[in-house]
Amino acid sequence: MTEALPAVRIVEHDGTYFARLAYSQEMPVEALLDAVFGRRFRFGIPPQGTAVAHIRVGEIECWKKQCRATTKIVTGIDVVFGPHTSSFSVPQLGEYPALFGEVLGRLPRDAKIGRLKKRFSNTQERAYVSNGCYRCDSIVGEFYEIDARYTEEAVGSFPIQITPAWKQAIEEEMENQLEWAVYSPSELGM
Ligand SMILES: [Zn+2]
Repeated sequence: MTEALPAVRIVEHDGTYFARLAYSQEMPVEALLDAVFGRRFRFGIPPQGTAVAHIRVGEIECWKKQCRATTKIVTGIDVVFGPHTSSFSVPQLGEYPALFGEVLGRLPRDAKIGRLKKRFSNTQERAYVSNGCYRCDSIVGEFYEIDARYTEEAVGSFPIQITPAWKQAIEEEMENQLEWAVYSPSELGM
């Protein structure tokens, strides 16, 4: 599919016709037509709407020998909009300061979650927005974040208003593999 030529595959199950779209979306043909006429069949990420962000938190042991505290870190922020789930790590979302600030304000209050802020990484020889140990504030390197995936759990969800910056971040996370997709009326504020 391209922007200029939206196309769908039609399949039949037991006498009912279904439209198969990109990103594994499938719906009865009537539902697709309703979306088309309702202007909810969109190419790429719509510039306005309401998505839902989910925050994941996991546990690791601080790598500092003098500390070794069990600390919680934010392992990911998943933004669900239409058929898309875009997952950002803390360092990734840190590259979009306005978006990061919005998420930071919605983090659950938990004293065992280390602060999220810019720290210098000797490994990467650069400063970036990182997780840290709640006790000693040492940077938790991106490599260590993988360990926390085994214990991670969703700790909170909140709506976000899609802005041009969110649209850009989501499209970049999708590596600009943009297609036509159907959004619900509530997601588009209709
Ligand atoms: Zn520590």
